[in-house]
Amino acid sequence: MKAYKFWFVVGSQFLYGEETLKTVERDCRTIVETLNESGKLPYEIVYEDTVKTAGGAEKIVKEANFDDTCAGIITFCHTFSPSKMWINAFSLLQKPLLHFHTQFNSSIPNEEIDMDYMNLHQSAHGDREHGFIGARMRLPRKVIAGHWRNESVQKRIGKWMKVAAAYDFSRNLKVMRFGDNMREVAVTEGDKVETQIKLGWQVNTWPVGKLAEMIDAVTEEETDAKVAEYLSRYELATDNMDAVRYQAKEEIAMKKLLDAEGCRAYTNTFQDLYGMRQLPGIASQNLMADGYGYGAEGDWKTAAMTAVMKVMGKRSAFMEDYTYDLEGGISLGAHMLEVCPSVAADKPRIEVHPLGIGDREDPARLVFEGQAGKGIVVSLVDMGGRMRFIVQDIECVKPTQTMPNLPVARVMWKAAPNLETGAECWILAGGAHHTVLSLDVDAEMVRDFARMAGIEFVHIDKDTTPEKLEKELFFADVAWQLRR
Ligand code: MN
Repeated sequence: MKAYKFWFVVGSQFLYGEETLKTVERDCRTIVETLNESGKLPYEIVYEDTVKTAGGAEKIVKEANFDDTCAGIITFCHTFSPSKMWINAFSLLQKPLLHFHTQFNSSIPNEEIDMDYMNLHQSAHGDREHGFIGARMRLPRKVIAGHWRNESVQKRIGKWMKVAAAYDFSRNLKVMRFGDNMREVAVTEGDKVETQIKLGWQVNTWPVGKLAEMIDAVTEEETDAKVAEYLSRYELATDNMDAVRYQAKEEIAMKKLLDAEGCRAYTNTFQDLYGMRQLPGIASQNLMADGYGYGAEGDWKTAAMTAVMKVMGKRSAFMEDYTYDLEGGISLGAHMLEVCPSVAADKPRIEVHPLGIGDREDPARLVFEGQAGKGIVVSLVDMGGRMRFIVQDIECVKPTQTMPNLPVARVMWKAAPNLETGAECWILAGGAHHTVLSLDVDAEMVRDFARMAGIEFVHIDKDTTPEKLEKELFFADVAWQLRR
């Protein structure tokens, strides 16, 4: 990851005199220093300047746009800062914006308070003027209110920073496709040009035959090293070392191609394995563990989203809804092979089993149970003319059955508001069977990301009902079509 920085830009004006402006700067430097030392932020905040004029605001925004390490701007108006002077700046802004509505003092000092104090500590007043211009200009922005020493406020700022970093990552993401989408499947399709405009993803195809040649060219020494890595990370539960070694060769060859093109996500499909002896299993799983995004059956949208969400939170995995326990209200998620070990509860086991489809040798794969905890599942679908994020709150649970004959990694969860209503809502919204499941990213973070990218956001939570959701989807559809 880049060493991202976030610029702290303070709103004020010349009206109050030099002394007040000095105090504003000193207070804001204290705020920035405290936030940086809080241990709650993933990246550094840099105090940039106190803006007093339209020209000053515009200069900072132009510099921020030009600086590749600047992942976002955080504004705060310690005093009043007339907002017409922000119009030129905000009309040029290309970085994510957080309006941090805080105040230097957390309470009102009874004896000390006089009109000088009021002039200095008036963000309650200044930040409303600042908020109006954001609303008037329809600026996509995040607003966080609360005292800067408050831990939950610091954590929320930290979460927004992770999303802004993921957005910068997204703008530069390249996705490699080995083969096309699975034949006749609709939901994994999508407008790649529109996606690149909105999300930045460069999605291009590479020949499977070229990959097969590279797999065959991997040396035994390279293979030994990769197998040693597997054995250090995972538990060996097979005698079929030939299958494990072939997976190691597949991973090495795929990684070479991905890295040569600067790709951080990829897709493949069991329908196009020309020249390959096995569908990649542990090969893909181990690449995911190292931060590469993956989507099966040519699902480039989920591949890219997995990579993006891994930047927001490490325990994020390509997932697929498979089977329900309707009695217990539980979903079983898995895939043919490719579940990311970042969500494993224990050390994954390397196993070799036959694969019913794809007409290839038995592939080695990692088998494990998923962790318990609060999480989300995320789907990105193309609605024709626009993209839509669908996010559902879930509670991952320890698998309720051992399923000794299921030869793949398995994750179980309870979906909000419950299995039936949640599934009804998911299906009404058009959510896919492929998702990204995350135990580190929450719905607020995906909502922030969707806002940055200008994409529709649908959230299924404990309060969602099919009746309310149907209305929301109908009105959103009209609104998004008007917006075009
Ligand atoms: Mn699938």
